[in-house]
Amino acid sequence: MTLHIDLQAIVANWKALAAKSPGARAAAVVKADAYGLGADRVASALYAAGARDFFVALAGEGHTLRPHLPDDARIHVLSGHMAGADLSGLIPVLNSAEQFFRDRALRPGRPFAIQLDTGMNRLGLEPGEWAAIRAEALAAGPDFIMSHLACADEPGHPANAMQLSAFRAMTDGCNVPRSLSATGGTLLGPDYHFDLIRPGIGLYGALPFAEALPVVRLSLPVIQTRMVRPGEFVGYSATWTADRPRRIATVAAGYADGILRALSSSGASLYSGDRACPIVGRVSMDLITADVTDLPDIPAQLDLVCPAQPVDRLADFAGTIGYEILTALGSRYDRVYR
Ligand SMILES: *Cc1c(COP(=O)(O)O)cnc(C)c1O
Repeated sequence: MTLHIDLQAIVANWKALAAKSPGARAAAVVKADAYGLGADRVASALYAAGARDFFVALAGEGHTLRPHLPDDARIHVLSGHMAGADLSGLIPVLNSAEQFFRDRALRPGRPFAIQLDTGMNRLGLEPGEWAAIRAEALAAGPDFIMSHLACADEPGHPANAMQLSAFRAMTDGCNVPRSLSATGGTLLGPDYHFDLIRPGIGLYGALPFAEALPVVRLSLPVIQTRMVRPGEFVGYSATWTADRPRRIATVAAGYADGILRALSSSGASLYSGDRACPIVGRVSMDLITADVTDLPDIPAQLDLVCPAQPVDRLADFAGTIGYEILTALGSRYDRVYR
């Protein structure tokens, strides 16, 4: 089971997003082990390309990443300063007055950032809370002030303009660098760029960055093939029955490897080059079955993610989004970097 990861494509995607926002610094979001692709390798490649700002979700992720990056790389922790967290070498993004006061008491003089809530109602200070501590927070010198867009992957959604004006109302005149946009917001145009963009998914080759270079290929070894006669079924619960003689290949990966069970009989295929071999029957814990009748010969490996079936197409078949496909890909795979 091999997950091929193209680091050069990740770097090219980062540069392409940075080029769309020439007035802003481009960070890189590498939470959840860089969306399942390996934060140490991804962040190191982006550092070499010039990235200095990295975002993780949790302090623990930051500590795992810290030794892989030089000292001038800044690792920002989106969950902020949680009680008991060790933030040495990291920069918390403080999400509430409570986190702000905890951080100033325990890390006086140390760098921090602030997150404001502009409508998503997930993380960040609400307008009233911000008004109450704003003077004190600004006096303490945050590295930047940020917020996050809920609907940036839908350019026409009214929440985008609403959140933009809320962000402006809360931060105009603060004289501190500002950050509003992840991948989707970066694509909404210059009004949304401010001083720092925070792309994640676009680096990894998935929507909403439609121009992204593909980053991932997932190849799965064929364990066995067999002929099934008309009327014979394949897999758990006998959900698929052969209508004519078919050759079935069984490959060594399943939902325990992050290949969602929802891909069963969904229209998704395994690929040999550009030839589709439909997944038939249920995806089971460690195995998948596919119809390889039309292949002239059986390869040693079949691909689940490849140019013919990119991450977002697989996500459509599973009824989810590229983010979930990528982060679900488990640690059982050998990762091969290019
Ligand atoms: C995950 C995340 C990002 C990156 O989002 P993408 O849509 O993957 O580009 C940026 N900012 C915050 C606060 C996030 O949680």
